[in-house]
Amino acid sequence: MENCIFCKIISSDIPSHKVFETDDFLASLDIHLQSSGHVQVIPKKHYRWVWDLPAAPSAAQAGVPGNNGEYFSIVHKIALAQRKAFSTDWILSKIVGDEVEHAHIWVYPDRNVKGDMNDFEGNAEKIRQNLQ
Ligand SMILES: [Zn+2]
Repeated sequence: MENCIFCKIISSDIPSHKVFETDDFLASLDIHLQSSGHVQVIPKKHYRWVWDLPAAPSAAQAGVPGNNGEYFSIVHKIALAQRKAFSTDWILSKIVGDEVEHAHIWVYPDRNVKGDMNDFEGNAEKIRQNLQ
């Protein structure tokens, strides 16, 4: 969608520190950090709200791309990588959408984890190295 900052990140018109991506979703560091390694996970297709994505497919609907089941499995994957990367069990997640009108989910560790919060590339790399 034109003039959507997240659509511009997806099209690489705006650079980002990517952590993980699939055909339908992108996980990258949020510019407005809540803590070190604060990731936002967004669908590549423009949806206004997280609630607008298609429901996870049942056996009868297998093959529905970009569904909310895949979305949450990526959020889960990022959270597990952050636990290892930042040596904490304390990972928070928020479903937001009031400031940018493109569905997004935040996943971020405790503010008190060690490291430089502003080392975007270093923190992105730590998360990438701990993805399974
Ligand atoms: Zn968008």
